[in-house]
Amino acid sequence: MDSETVWKADAVALADRISTLLTVARSAEAEIGSLLAEIESRGVMELFGYRSAARLFEHLADVSTAAAETVVKRARALNPGHNLDGTPIPAVAPATGAAALDGRLSTPMIDTIVGVMIQVPPEHCADVEQNLLFFASEAGYKQVAALGTRILAHLDPDGAEPDSAEPATPSRELSLRRKRTGIWELNGRFDDETGTRASALLDSLAQRRTTDEGPDLRSPQERYGDAFSDAIDLALNSSDLPMQAGERAHVMVAVSLQDLKSGVGRAILGDLGTMSAAEARIHACDCKLIPAVLGGKSEPLDLGHQRRLISTPLRHALYLRDRGCAFPGCHRPPRHCQGHHIRHWADGGPTELGNLVLMCAHHHRLLHRSGWQVRIAADGLPEFLPPVFLDKRRKPRRNNLHQPLPFAA
Ligand SMILES: [Zn+2]
Ligand SMILES: [Zn+2]
Repeated sequence: MDSETVWKADAVALADRISTLLTVARSAEAEIGSLLAEIESRGVMELFGYRSAARLFEHLADVSTAAAETVVKRARALNPGHNLDGTPIPAVAPATGAAALDGRLSTPMIDTIVGVMIQVPPEHCADVEQNLLFFASEAGYKQVAALGTRILAHLDPDGAEPDSAEPATPSRELSLRRKRTGIWELNGRFDDETGTRASALLDSLAQRRTTDEGPDLRSPQERYGDAFSDAIDLALNSSDLPMQAGERAHVMVAVSLQDLKSGVGRAILGDLGTMSAAEARIHACDCKLIPAVLGGKSEPLDLGHQRRLISTPLRHALYLRDRGCAFPGCHRPPRHCQGHHIRHWADGGPTELGNLVLMCAHHHRLLHRSGWQVRIAADGLPEFLPPVFLDKRRKPRRNNLHQPLPFAA
């Protein structure tokens, strides 16, 4: 194709041209293989003075030793040869060799078929090779490899025979255990695909934060630990989560009203855990954990479920107003955020827009634990008062990263 034809070609024509060229290139590679096999059977030393066909090809093609050896090994499998004493050596996969010369097989496909054929007992070779080649004409090499595994298992009764044509279910294991210290240990093994997805998810959440607080000093391990916690929040916030007994999955935390108000004391978390009341106060802020608030005699107190739960319309209003974590300089989008009650509901704070701020888990925690304070300014938007050690005058700061630009685009 000259450059003008390329320029005019549509998608089908471009793909067709690639297929045609692949056939030519594959066919040429197969022919190179048959020539190397011929050279080898005549004697490389006699013909060229080289010790082996691989060494010769290494120099002819200017490729690595390993690459040259792979090419020669493939050539031997596809083409018949001779021993030094003249006795013939049959090809491992002669029909595959013929198909390769036509340019019909990719290199991984050839290697897959050869890999199966060297394990097939001689009496079954012809049948098995025909089967694999037929399948290869309509499937990719990975499927052919799966078929090969099934055939080998069938021919070898000692091996385990898979019970279905389905590709093997990927093996995944996970254990999550709470130790007596209250620290949880996570251990697992995943297939490549799951691992890759998990890594992509955590990478996206573990990026360094740059905000007004200064540089992000967390170690990579700490960032990934925080990312894992954020990923769990994201999943728990998802409306796709399966219901449990008609409710969204949640974790119960039992805490006395007095402890929840003061933030002093301990709370019982789920079936096993405990957490500080201060921690329970943070989680209870957006009802991420549903608190069973206990009265003086440990009987559950109904504080008005509706009153503290942030309804969907209210959450949307909060998303619209804050458009992400409201903390100065934070980039986190709304779906990573929780609603913070400026005046905690346990202290009688109402669950309404004027008493709520959208915050990412990290800044939510920071707000509960540090000298930062938040309030809603006269214009209805949240603003943050830095702790005295950062700014003696405590001049309010805002996050303007999510707000529309003050001029028309
Ligand atoms: Zn809060
Ligand atoms: Zn934030």
